[in-house]
Amino acid sequence: MHAMRHWAVRHAGRLEQAYKLLAKALRTLRPVVRLIGPQRLQRPVAGVERAVKGFLFDCRMCGGCTLSATGMACPMNCPKQVRNGPCGGVRADGTCEVDPAMRCVGLEGWRGSRRMAAGALPGAPTAPAEHHLAGRSTWLRVMAGEAPRASIAFEAPVRPSGSRLEALLERGTFVVTAEFPPPDSAAPADVLARLAPFRDCVDALNVTDASGANCHMSSVAVSVLLAQAGCEPVMQITCRDRNRIAIQGDLLGAAALGIRNVLCLTGDHVANGDHPGARHVGDLDSLTLLATARKLRDAGEFLSGRKLAAPPQLFLGAAGNPFAAPMETRLERLRRKVAAGAQFLQTQYCFDVAALEDFMAMVRAEGLHERIAILIGVGPIGSAKTARWLRASVPGVRIPDAIVQRLEAAADAREEGRRIAIELIQRIRDIPGIAGVHVMAHRQEQLVRSIVADSGVLGARTPLFTSSAPPARSEPCLLP
Ligand code: SF4
Repeated sequence: MHAMRHWAVRHAGRLEQAYKLLAKALRTLRPVVRLIGPQRLQRPVAGVERAVKGFLFDCRMCGGCTLSATGMACPMNCPKQVRNGPCGGVRADGTCEVDPAMRCVGLEGWRGSRRMAAGALPGAPTAPAEHHLAGRSTWLRVMAGEAPRASIAFEAPVRPSGSRLEALLERGTFVVTAEFPPPDSAAPADVLARLAPFRDCVDALNVTDASGANCHMSSVAVSVLLAQAGCEPVMQITCRDRNRIAIQGDLLGAAALGIRNVLCLTGDHVANGDHPGARHVGDLDSLTLLATARKLRDAGEFLSGRKLAAPPQLFLGAAGNPFAAPMETRLERLRRKVAAGAQFLQTQYCFDVAALEDFMAMVRAEGLHERIAILIGVGPIGSAKTARWLRASVPGVRIPDAIVQRLEAAADAREEGRRIAIELIQRIRDIPGIAGVHVMAHRQEQLVRSIVADSGVLGARTPLFTSSAPPARSEPCLLP
């Protein structure tokens, strides 16, 4: 089966031509469909379609075919159901993060799109699958004159977010954000106790959403608690655990409780986490999530088109991995995220400044850095063993040998890792087009303050989250 899928991608241009002819022929059959009735034709036409497309594309009969917009690679074969791939998890050899035995479907689609008329994946996100149409024939819909919704695209001016982080970035300030780990607890005090290492050194804190597919307190709740403690939270939201109904509800709820920054993520597959038997939802992906959030905010309506009484105020972010190969896909992905509505980008760990410089040269050549604020991920590595594990196990993390050797030779590897993080921040700050850094100090949060202070990246300015921020409440209060 995989062999036919690869053949289809290699011949995407010819298949596109063939499909255009087929669609033309199908449309001529419209009077026949009217005469017999689409319901009667559903079974035989779907049967033929399943046989042909099952053989060629491993078709899952989603009922809303996107092959023309996904490089003739069926996105329903992606274990994460990403219709706008490749995700940041693609491995260096082009295989899937979840199933290393198969090539990344999104990457295959990107290759196929190069052979098609447009020469690239479409700018607007391909629409999510309509699950109530599963098993039904897309060909019959073409015959009946129904136009399957190909993309989420709309025109509307960007509404203000009221985000303090956005205001800082708009002033051209080099910002510092950091990752905040939600506790395995229902006690607000356990959230607030984790804030100390971040005061006076960061502008905003990213609240992870069950990172690594491991269960923790929800990012909505933690973000609200942080906001009440005087912090500027960036609420991360993934598509792994909720469908589009729950996601839109959470976005409205978070905005109602004062959350202004949202980072839209596809999310790790559940197989990577502590509940591998959970259902991986994947109803949306990061691009359709961005477009959905933007539609709520700017068009003032749900994805369904139903109007909102009051739209949410949101500053929308996306994650990026400039270090996942091939680099051209990362640039195209950045373009697509900007088109979908991303206003800021936070990247995977950067340890390879030369690779980052190459990426930023391409970003600047297109002027993309003027359309999105780019924050580069940095963090301390505690040992050479951790460095080797990171580069072997975390897709897209590229750690040069020189860094591993430094950690190996150091008498105090933890201190050496801290120094490397400081040097990286200083070098990253000097690259034109970069708007800030995002510090991820997993299980080394107490190092964040000294890393930021010793890098000198804040200069004389006071960050947004200070010691003089309102004292933390001991009791949860959900009203701003
Ligand atoms: S996109 Fe849907 S209809 Fe098209 S090949 Fe894939 S599963 Fe089949």
